[in-house]
Amino acid sequence: MARRLGPQQAALYAAEAASIDGLGIVWRRLAEAQQAVDGLVGSAWFAERWPHFVRAVVERRGRGATWSTCHPLDAAGPGGRPTEGVILVAGALRQPTVLHELTHLLLPRGAGHGRDFAEAMLALVRHEMGFVAYVEYLYALRGHEPFRAIGQDRAISA
Ligand SMILES: [Zn+2]
Repeated sequence: MARRLGPQQAALYAAEAASIDGLGIVWRRLAEAQQAVDGLVGSAWFAERWPHFVRAVVERRGRGATWSTCHPLDAAGPGGRPTEGVILVAGALRQPTVLHELTHLLLPRGAGHGRDFAEAMLALVRHEMGFVAYVEYLYALRGHEPFRAIGQDRAISA
């Protein structure tokens, strides 16, 4: 995740900050976050959407790290997407952070924070964090230019 934000990245971060950042679960232990991710990735719902993706390992970044990030472990999925990856969390083990980094692992490398990212993240938020979090995130996204029509001109497969 680059420190100099492009316009889409800045808009997406702002939307997340204004909606889902304070919502969802804060896992106290790494094992709890891992269990949640395993349950999600192992679910029929997930397999229907991202059948190529089989495992994400959750790890904590070192003390003092500011940015969460992720690390694909291969490029064996469709379009060079990874089938496995590592989610590296800076600070608290917050559900929106983990879902954000997981979303990166589901998209082609370098896909960034555009429409495809927002739609995949919306689907995960709806499924994992519930309908209220989904709607708050959706409307926060629509407040930013790159995402004005999100959820209107093509379906989100949540
Ligand atoms: Zn990101």
